[in-house]
Amino acid sequence: MAQTDTASKYSKRGHILSPSAWNRFESCPRQFWLSKQRLPRKTSMAAAIGTIVHASIEDIIGENLTGRDPKESGWMPTLANRVLRKRWEEEKEIFFKTPRHPEWKDSEWDNAKNQQYGAIELLLTKVGASGLDANLITIKLWRQVQRIILSCEGELRSTDGRLMGRMDLLLAKFDAEGNIIGWVVADLKTGKVPTGPLKPTVSRQLRFYRDLLAENNKVHPEITAEGWYTRGPMVVESKGPSVLEDAYTAWELSQPSEIPFEAQPSEEACGFCDYKAWCAHWWNWRHSGKSPPQRMFVDAVVLIERADVEKGAALIELCTPKNDEGGIIPSGKKFGAVFEGPALNSLKKIVEDDWKGAVFLGSVKADKNVWRVGNWCDVLPWKPIPDSGIKTD
Ligand code: SF4
Repeated sequence: MAQTDTASKYSKRGHILSPSAWNRFESCPRQFWLSKQRLPRKTSMAAAIGTIVHASIEDIIGENLTGRDPKESGWMPTLANRVLRKRWEEEKEIFFKTPRHPEWKDSEWDNAKNQQYGAIELLLTKVGASGLDANLITIKLWRQVQRIILSCEGELRSTDGRLMGRMDLLLAKFDAEGNIIGWVVADLKTGKVPTGPLKPTVSRQLRFYRDLLAENNKVHPEITAEGWYTRGPMVVESKGPSVLEDAYTAWELSQPSEIPFEAQPSEEACGFCDYKAWCAHWWNWRHSGKSPPQRMFVDAVVLIERADVEKGAALIELCTPKNDEGGIIPSGKKFGAVFEGPALNSLKKIVEDDWKGAVFLGSVKADKNVWRVGNWCDVLPWKPIPDSGIKTD
């Protein structure tokens, strides 16, 4: 069956490129193409924490302070905790509804809280109140913060509708007389704080916002683009030439297509790709001898010889590639495997559905004789989409 239904919807919606889609396209065009095929979505605890922190900061910024005593303090920790809890519960529900998810970690609450405070600290820095204890934030001070925020979660769209992005924050810089002398586009980052220069993908994303904002506002003050690392907390500015010409080129090249885009397997792209169960290229690349060896955590295509879903135990046989299309050759190498949590649920589903083909196992802890398929692992029917886009079975 051709993958026409999803590709045509992608085309009907109109082709719009966002910074994250652009990064995906640059990293591996096939990964971008697969992301448009409505395959079962995947989430992670790190992604959930990112959403929770972003949403809770949006709530704190939008808090209505009308009629409150300017001198009042001690209110911020209560508000921060309340909105964090609300967003935490909302995200937890979405997390469990996402078809591919690991275990939810309540232990991540403190991490979310610390990162929320990291974002509050970065906002305070912009009004000259860095290092202030949250308990001492007055209504007057937070009104000052609200005053410098021109937009929160604002959508940016190119006039031709081809490029689109969502800015976490747009802030104004004022001079001593209260005149706006600059704009700051800030993107909250809940991942690792960079130890050197920004990654090219992050730098490109930040400049994408900066340049689109400049393009849409012919008269504008100086615009700076900043990554706000809430774990630090730390701010890193992205500098460099405009990225819009490259973005339009990527828009042209990523037009909807029923034929899958070229696959460009690499350590970086495949390592974080959510679509390996539908792509044979990473597998052939791994077996070509050109890729670095996998270490403790491995991706594999296996046959399930026997499975005891009650005990979460199975006997699996490793497969090797037969051809470029994802055909398999059973290797004769057999291992015991222990499945846990959501990975065990996925195995149960495969058994219930009476799936007879090979199975993709992602990020398995491969010890010598027993493989541990932990809650974080992908367990999916192996259904690679051939380069023609046409499935024969
Ligand atoms: S597994 Fe690798 S080659 Fe295949 S789509 Fe993902 S990034 Fe591209």
